[in-house]
Amino acid sequence: MNMEAIKPVGVRSEQVAPVLIHIEKLNKWYGDFQVLKDVSLEVRKGERVVICGPSGSGKSSLIRCINRLEEHQEGSIVVDGVELSSKLKRIDKIRSEVGMVFQHFNLFPHLTILENCTLAPRWVRKISRKDANELAMHFLERVRIPQKAHDYPNQLSGGQQQRVAIARALCMNPRVMLFDEPTSALDPEMIKEVLDTMISLAEEGMTMVCVTHEMGFARKVADKVVFMDGGQILESGTPDNLFGAPRHARTQGFLSQLLS
Ligand code: ADP
Ligand code: MG
Repeated sequence: MNMEAIKPVGVRSEQVAPVLIHIEKLNKWYGDFQVLKDVSLEVRKGERVVICGPSGSGKSSLIRCINRLEEHQEGSIVVDGVELSSKLKRIDKIRSEVGMVFQHFNLFPHLTILENCTLAPRWVRKISRKDANELAMHFLERVRIPQKAHDYPNQLSGGQQQRVAIARALCMNPRVMLFDEPTSALDPEMIKEVLDTMISLAEEGMTMVCVTHEMGFARKVADKVVFMDGGQILESGTPDNLFGAPRHARTQGFLSQLLS
């Protein structure tokens, strides 16, 4: 992997990019249990944010709120100018603007790779079967797996399935991509092919929020690394700052465990 960092968002253009995701004082509970506490986060267009932190710290809950797979109770989330609230009528519109890639791929097992990729474009975007097929083949080529278009998910390796999941999300032409530990269910030899796909997305300027503990990826791609613990953002900074000089003992402890 070429470890030279991709230029951060502020360096790529003279102007400051507009805010695409604005999260302010977000609080969320599951029953009595408060999973997110006063979380505030801003993601600008083209920015790549990596979220790390121990298991149970609320990372998945936070990113699932961004496409409303989960609801929050207090605070606000605005995605591309649309506030996510109970009044939101077009949840499918938000979902189509915010692509999501999960740890366990979540492909439909009874549909072919091509059908997995064309389902949402056809039924949400209402495009024709022919156009949807063309679109899907374009993105399957983009993730270098067009030859599997007519296979079923269980005929593919984990790394291949995850690349299909990325292609499927891209078929909706999302403004931002969310990744929730996309490589943590993969065998070690398959991690690189998925990270390389994500790196090339970053190089093309995709706005990305990635929950991952792949520090090499974070160092190469992230403009900002956010450390979460106990439902809070404890600290955030550039990869050099956060990994090189963490301010909190909890961050130091977590990072030293990752490295050991
Ligand atoms: P992470 O992704 O950082 O591991 P999660 O957001 O998945 O953290 O979970 C944070 C905490 O919330 C955990 O203690 C988990 O058990 C709890 N939790 C997650 N989802 C639910 C749910 N649907 N109902 C109740 N508790 C949940
Ligand atoms: Mg999680």
